[in-house]
Amino acid sequence: MTYVVTDACIRCKYMDCVEVCPVDCFYEGDNMLVINPSECIDCGVCEPECPAEAILPDTESGLEQWLELNNTFAAQWPNITRKREAPADADEWKNVEGKYEKHFSPEPGQGD
Ligand code: SF4
Ligand code: SF4
Repeated sequence: MTYVVTDACIRCKYMDCVEVCPVDCFYEGDNMLVINPSECIDCGVCEPECPAEAILPDTESGLEQWLELNNTFAAQWPNITRKREAPADADEWKNVEGKYEKHFSPEPGQGD
């Protein structure tokens, strides 16, 4: 089991989650974060911290796509353990549907 970041994080990237993770297993893309499923210890403390409700346990159904995305990009993007300022327009992207199709970026973020 692991927790995964879903497309609700895209263009929101508040980064509240990285501050609470005891094993520093968040990785930063250009406009979203992912969790490394093989490092996550399933503690669940990040889930309620996310203002976009983008973090879910993979025991919920229908998350296969996001589990694969987290797995793939955790291997390519830099580690992030410290919160920076969220994007200025993050609130406008909260609850927007279909962000993956239109806005996902495979580019890495800056990391710590
Ligand atoms: S708190 Fe949620 S929206 Fe913000 S970076 Fe973490 S997963 Fe993404
Ligand atoms: S569930 Fe725990 S270990 Fe996994 S990403 Fe969230 S805070 Fe980190």
